[in-house]
Amino acid sequence: MNEDTRADIRSMTIEELTAALKEMGEPSFRGKQVFAWLHHGARSFDEMSNIAKPLREKLGERFYIAAPRVERKQVSRLDGTTKYLWGLRDGNCIETVLMRYHHGNTVCISSQVGCRMGCAFCASTIGGKVRDLRPSEMLEQVMFAQADSGMEISNIVLMGIGEPLDNFDNVMRFLELVNFPQGMNIGMRHISLSTCGLIPGIRKLAELQLQLTLSVSLHAPDSETRSRIMPVNRAYDVEDLFAACHDYFRRTGRRISFEYAMIDGVNDSDRQADLIVKKLRGMPGHVNLIPLNDVAESPLKPSRRVRQFQQRLESQGVTATVRRSLGGDIDASCGQLRRKAMEMERE
Ligand code: SAH
Repeated sequence: MNEDTRADIRSMTIEELTAALKEMGEPSFRGKQVFAWLHHGARSFDEMSNIAKPLREKLGERFYIAAPRVERKQVSRLDGTTKYLWGLRDGNCIETVLMRYHHGNTVCISSQVGCRMGCAFCASTIGGKVRDLRPSEMLEQVMFAQADSGMEISNIVLMGIGEPLDNFDNVMRFLELVNFPQGMNIGMRHISLSTCGLIPGIRKLAELQLQLTLSVSLHAPDSETRSRIMPVNRAYDVEDLFAACHDYFRRTGRRISFEYAMIDGVNDSDRQADLIVKKLRGMPGHVNLIPLNDVAESPLKPSRRVRQFQQRLESQGVTATVRRSLGGDIDASCGQLRRKAMEMERE
């Protein structure tokens, strides 16, 4: 592929677009017009019928509009969950999952091509990280999943491939874009961001005081176990992580959701349940227990103590729910998404 020096127009805010168009001699309303097209699924400048052709051509010289291609679409026979494999313009592939809940349709998007966090139970990290996703590439997952499925999306979870806080600036820009009233207009309260525990990112996020829901992938409350299954714990120890979570709650007033994939004989003991209770004291946390999903490369087995563990937490005042597994027949459940190499040549 020839090197493309044009700028990624779908990652720009209305203000940036307006400024760029002004520089090209255009009136100030033009930025809003172009923004509206870009956020309602435009795949090319030629679709922008209220923009004169010479300007469309000039825009095409300076900017590109990325639009991922559906390389594969799978629909679960069990629950209608839909998994998309998108081909990006550089030939990389990522996955997005669309789920139907009674509170609305939720899209689970990827934030990176691959992941460098190395969690022992997760398919997304096999092969490491290739690159960060651009704001436009996160937005396009939401926009084109909605367009393709015809299902109005009301909620977004940043729980697909990648570590969102390892791609902090692009993720923040994506949140801003998807939130724009002239765009997809999805409110922060309808967005969840999940992290494996990058403490500096959690602290930066706390300062921004966003109304989103922060989810923390805990998976073990003790350092020894957590370091064994999550290498990130060696850099950011769980003791410091709990402290950062308490600070986050104090600053934002927002309850954190803790994800906990239950692994047989590793993190499912009563002692560990009791330690979670102790560490969450003083903060209204919510623990989301996830029955471990199968990842072929991993020897770890699902716990048989999920209900007991849940009861042990609940009986000590910590709310705990068991996450319903969706899309199990199409490998669309937590931890099962993976980057796929694409052999085909792109233009
Ligand atoms: N990198 C971020 C976002 C991924 S969210 C994070 O770690 O939070 C995906 C969630 O699924 C995380 O909580 C992850 O730990 C969990 N998960 C990964 N593999 C899993 C598996 N095999 N079974 C159940 N949950 C898994």
